[in-house]
Amino acid sequence: LGYLYPPLSQLGSLHLTVTSASASCERLLEILDAEPEVRDAPGAADSPVAHGRVELRDVRYVYPGTESAGLDGVSLEVRPGQFVLVTGPSGAGKSTLTRMLLRFVDVQSGAILLDGVDVRDRTISSVRAAVTLLPQKPMLFDLTVRENIAYARPDASDDEIEAAARDAGALDFIRELPDGFDTVVGEDGASLSGGQRQRLAIARALLRTSPILVLDEPTTGLDAPTARAVLDPLRRLSGGRTTIVVSHDLTPARDADLVVVLDEGRVVQQGRHADLLTRRGVYADLWAAQQGHRPDDGSDAGSDDDL
Ligand code: ATP
Repeated sequence: LGYLYPPLSQLGSLHLTVTSASASCERLLEILDAEPEVRDAPGAADSPVAHGRVELRDVRYVYPGTESAGLDGVSLEVRPGQFVLVTGPSGAGKSTLTRMLLRFVDVQSGAILLDGVDVRDRTISSVRAAVTLLPQKPMLFDLTVRENIAYARPDASDDEIEAAARDAGALDFIRELPDGFDTVVGEDGASLSGGQRQRLAIARALLRTSPILVLDEPTTGLDAPTARAVLDPLRRLSGGRTTIVVSHDLTPARDADLVVVLDEGRVVQQGRHADLLTRRGVYADLWAAQQGHRPDDGSDAGSDDDL
């Protein structure tokens, strides 16, 4: 996915020192160049989303100039505070769904509702304040741990930054870094492991305190124990935050209140992991295929020690 989660607008208030054309900067410029596809409707409500209920009603989206339906009649209900995994094979529509939740594109028919209000009747800024996206490759800057977390909310206090780090399960490793929260992480977090980078990114996302958190492939590229360790704190989150993990990786499945399986733009199965496994279908096939590649996924034990 070539996009970033919402607080880009706050970038101006973060005092970045950019001395050379970096990978992060190039990515950022690509994003800033992108033409916005959606606009606020006249009179759109700017009120906050209080609870985090997400509903899709028969949502259809065909990519302009193609016959390719990103989503083809998707209906879905996520209750406030639920932990949901949206999965499916390549081309199933996972990324399209994520784009639509953030209103990077709007439905062509059907509707997406947040707390019962159609997102097209809300301002784009209120939708993006309500839905925090943790992108597949979160950008970390050559700044301190503290500054990287606070990127989500530059006015956050040290206590709030520490609380977000604790909730993300990042506090222990941060304390072991040479300068703790003042440690400079390197370009793209080069001095950190994959799991550590992901935890910092999660802390950053949590600092926004939005009611809905969407994580795009948060465990891709991590080994199974590290993947579970990254996910662990998310399911323990207090405050009833609705968490939607969009991923081909099924590590989050057993912890999910609901697993939604997309294929060719449609919801082909949904339910709890254990129930889905008892039925023949796309999910059981995906699970079986992944067991072959990740034998570790069969274990119930989670480990936090490998980060
Ligand atoms: P992957 O796991 O490979 O990322 P996905 O489940 O995220 O796949 P999407 O990227 O949402 O699937 O794609 C859903 C459908 O929409 C596919 O048929 C894809 O070819 C098509 N599609 C996605 N992006 C575009 C685009 N920018 N232009 C045209 N068609 C697109």
